[in-house]
Amino acid sequence: MDHPAFCNSLAAIVGSANALTAPADMAPYLTDWRDRYEGKAWAVARPGDTTQVAAVMRLCQDFKVNVVPQGGNTGLCGAATPDNGRNLVLRLDRMNRIRDFDDVDAVLTVEAGCVLATIQEEAATRGYLFPMSLGAEGSCQIGGNIATNAGGTAVLRYGPMRDLVLGLEVVLADGSICDWLTPLRKNTTGYDLRQLFVGAEGTLGVITAACLKVFPSPVQRESAMVALADVEAALALLKHLRGQIGERLLSFEIMNKAQVDIVLEHMPGITWPMAQPTPWCVLIEVTDTLRSYDLRATLEALLGEALEAGIIDDAVLPASHQQQEALWRLRHNVSEANKRAGYGVSHDTAVPLRHQASFARRVAEGVERDFPDAQLLMVGHIGDGNIHAVIMLDPERYAAPGALNAAAAAINTLVDEATLSLGGTISAEHGIGQTNKARLIRGRGAADIRRMQAVKRALDPDGRMNPGKVFDLGAD
Ligand SMILES: Cc1cc2nc3c(=O)[nH]c(=O)nc-3n(C[C@H](O)[C@H](O)[C@H](O)COP(=O)(O)OP(=O)(O)OC[C@H]3O[C@@H](n4cnc5c(N)ncnc54)[C@H](O)[C@@H]3O)c2cc1C
Repeated sequence: MDHPAFCNSLAAIVGSANALTAPADMAPYLTDWRDRYEGKAWAVARPGDTTQVAAVMRLCQDFKVNVVPQGGNTGLCGAATPDNGRNLVLRLDRMNRIRDFDDVDAVLTVEAGCVLATIQEEAATRGYLFPMSLGAEGSCQIGGNIATNAGGTAVLRYGPMRDLVLGLEVVLADGSICDWLTPLRKNTTGYDLRQLFVGAEGTLGVITAACLKVFPSPVQRESAMVALADVEAALALLKHLRGQIGERLLSFEIMNKAQVDIVLEHMPGITWPMAQPTPWCVLIEVTDTLRSYDLRATLEALLGEALEAGIIDDAVLPASHQQQEALWRLRHNVSEANKRAGYGVSHDTAVPLRHQASFARRVAEGVERDFPDAQLLMVGHIGDGNIHAVIMLDPERYAAPGALNAAAAAINTLVDEATLSLGGTISAEHGIGQTNKARLIRGRGAADIRRMQAVKRALDPDGRMNPGKVFDLGAD
């Protein structure tokens, strides 16, 4: 009886066209981007504004239905996929208005369902830069970016999502609306509650709008693809560039040869820009807001010095905007290529820069020793300390029941031991979701999980916000 009554009330709030209940209509929202999880829902709701979100939350409270917020559904940890309980998937895509632009405070106020690329374009049309950039930017939403504290390719210069959010509007599980939409950069009036929702993966409330920092638009942008021997060389190059051009360094992205080969094999139209292959490569981007500064000549000179010093083996600077975009396609297509290539056990490690080379070496030695048939891909935003080790397994070799999961668990242990012994984190930017939940205890420890459970109970006492993600609520 509950289910039809719930669906009728939901349709009355959001309109029947925005209350999806037919299995075929709901199907795309019940699986994750990697097709590794599938869940169930009583309905998928697409509210049009914050008042509707609040009414839907009150309805879910009355009917004891769990709420799974969902943005672009591009997350890589199964965090936006419901479990098999009484769930409502709350899609934010209709909430895609730009509410305000303030060019004195340099703040863009947007609704949570705005697609990231749209926000970048909005900022650009006003002569500003919104720097968050990642491979899924054409479909992920800013609410999802905030809920995962997304990273991407500009963290080195501008920081992760947490650093770009000034204000938030959030709806809690009981339907109360928290209006923390402010352009203020300083506010020391007790606990900064809005920070709790950044990186909470939808487990504390629904983000409905945000005030975002925008920055002066760079007028110059130069890139380079650099060939080098190993991670040590990449770090020496990073130090060399940072020491000379400091904040002009926007991106410093690393890939090993196995990773480049996977992209070239699986993504038609993408080509390698150099005459020879290389064991490792780094994609660099530098920008400047001043026209008077010769950015290209500086980058060429610095790479020339690195070549002479034997730090790097070769470098290519694109001659046109098209060539520059082609270099970035190679980097931004990594996740799609890896998905097409088969079954990969992905890691989202950050370790301090001084330990990056040890991390890469320890993982390579461990994989070689324990999984000699596996292929180790390494790719990441090494400039900010984040490197993804992706261990590709041949599912046919692990066809016995449970064998693939057991192999993945052993790989996780191996990588986590290297990560934690080097003072790192098991998830720098993708989050915990379902995929990394069992590993959270290793990464944060029991005492921290108890503290997070206490926060969760305070804001969502019935545990109805995105249950089964990040950690379980546990008994009181
Ligand atoms: C090709 C590709 C490349 C990627 N590259 C990167 C990268 O470089 N860096 C990086 O950090 N990530 C990357 N990702 C992962 C993903 O794009 C990010 O995690 C992104 O921030 C997720 O946004 P989304 O809107 O798709 O969120 P979803 O996948 O829909 O949701 C992710 C989590 O956020 C929650 N959530 C979504 N919207 C809200 C809301 N309004 N309120 C509260 N909670 C909400 C969900 O419940 C879920 O827990 C990549 C993914 C792909 C497919």
